[in-house]
Amino acid sequence: MTVANDLRLDETALREFRSVFAGQIIRPGDDPYEEQRRVWNGAIDRHPAVIARCAGVADVVAALSYGRATGLMAAVRSGGHSFPGQSVCDGGIVIDLGPMKGIRVDPEGRTARAQAGVLLGDLDRETQAFGLGVPAGIVTHTGLAGLTLGGGVGWLMRKYGLTIDQLLAVDLVTADGEFVKASADQNPDLFWGVRGGGGNFGIVTEFEFRLNPVGPTVLAGPIMWPIEKAPEVLRFYRDWIEDAPDELTTIVVNRKAPPLPAIPQEIHGKPVVVVACCYAGSVESGEREIAPLRKFGTPLLDLCSPKPFVMHQAMFDPSFPRGWWYYFRSCDVARLSDEVIDTTVEHCMHIESPLSGCPIFHLGGRVARVGENETAFSGRAAGHTFNINGITTGEDGFDEERDWARRLWTALEPHHTSVYVNFLMDEGEDRIRQAYGPKKYERLTELKKRYDPDNFFRLNQNIPSD
Ligand SMILES: Cc1cc2nc3c(=O)[nH]c(=O)nc-3n(C[C@H](O)[C@H](O)[C@H](O)COP(=O)(O)OP(=O)(O)OC[C@H]3O[C@@H](n4cnc5c(N)ncnc54)[C@H](O)[C@@H]3O)c2cc1C
Repeated sequence: MTVANDLRLDETALREFRSVFAGQIIRPGDDPYEEQRRVWNGAIDRHPAVIARCAGVADVVAALSYGRATGLMAAVRSGGHSFPGQSVCDGGIVIDLGPMKGIRVDPEGRTARAQAGVLLGDLDRETQAFGLGVPAGIVTHTGLAGLTLGGGVGWLMRKYGLTIDQLLAVDLVTADGEFVKASADQNPDLFWGVRGGGGNFGIVTEFEFRLNPVGPTVLAGPIMWPIEKAPEVLRFYRDWIEDAPDELTTIVVNRKAPPLPAIPQEIHGKPVVVVACCYAGSVESGEREIAPLRKFGTPLLDLCSPKPFVMHQAMFDPSFPRGWWYYFRSCDVARLSDEVIDTTVEHCMHIESPLSGCPIFHLGGRVARVGENETAFSGRAAGHTFNINGITTGEDGFDEERDWARRLWTALEPHHTSVYVNFLMDEGEDRIRQAYGPKKYERLTELKKRYDPDNFFRLNQNIPSD
């Protein structure tokens, strides 16, 4: 018997809730319950008492007020991609904005409005129809909402900044059910907080972004060498990116080559070092910029070519499907020093699982030029963000992969600077403090006292109100 099945909900309150709710209310035993209680990370197995699939803002307000009235623990879900599964809970209510998928692009004004249930691929599809885009993440099925509220790193960040750097405004329902807007002009303090402070201050129902020209054809893709060459490749890479233009964003990945159709069979399962590139400018200038990298050593494979941006965006999708078991450790480092490179390579040579790996995002460019205090996001000055992932298809072997990820993270500890809040697991208050630094943490606490004094929104990288 699960916690949720055990829980007796007040039937009168539930009836009243149903009478004002336009979306779908799902309870244990209902047909879609098993599917809907699941989130992206298959290692998370929780049983909420109620899943409220919201059709619009009125439903969000109704679900929130039902949650408050009944004292149920509330989880807020949009794309369901939280690494530690913070968008689902045992015995509480999931306020699910997934069905809210409206997008409106204004190509002349170069803005887009997107509701909270939009996934990154949905937004790219609509904006790319006009050759425009929002800088966001690297996997199309990630939720726009959670990603944006934490900051948003991805392929376009060195040119256009983090996702929050192109955010113009949000609509938000506060803990007491009030509908407010936040932008540079309206509730600017709240606008500062939602740009990096996560879901601590309310439920965002809609985002408005500035759009910028992107592609639609970009020079992009992975270049691969055997892992034995990684010490030289990464030293060359480190020096080469020193002068990289903002148009070029790269992500290094150390892993075993996945069995994808684009990769020759004889490489499948071989440990490799990959530099994945995305040049957000003309293909011709991209060819010039990327030439030194592709000439370095003898790459096993070079799949960096002109392609639609939306195709490049989907490149990592097969590596992170829904339902596998995932464990992450993350940190920022100032630069890829010899020690950082050697430690990383040494550990990546011993990856067991064909699925685990170590993506390293190159920051800088526009990310670093936005003032550190302009948004709640922290760590703009970092050189690189590590996202070490231990992955298995199910429970078998998961503990070993998790331990591998922990070992690499620990070995890198002398080099840690900050950490990106969206790449944290459930790691406790000290790590959240570390993610924001003492001054921002204090400012976020003050904001929390104003917008959520009872800490109703606590299933997140939590900023407590006291
Ligand atoms: C496969 C994969 C790839 C990723 N790639 C990237 C990447 O390239 N760049 C990057 O920056 N991040 C990336 N991430 C991390 C990602 O930013 C976070 O996992 C983010 O939380 C996902 O948002 P979501 O809406 O899908 O999450 P959910 O699990 O739905 O929500 C996560 C948390 O966000 C808050 N939240 C969600 N929706 C709302 C809302 N509408 N209002 C208020 N609070 C809300 C809640 O606190 C919730 O617990 C990736 C994650 C995955 C799983």
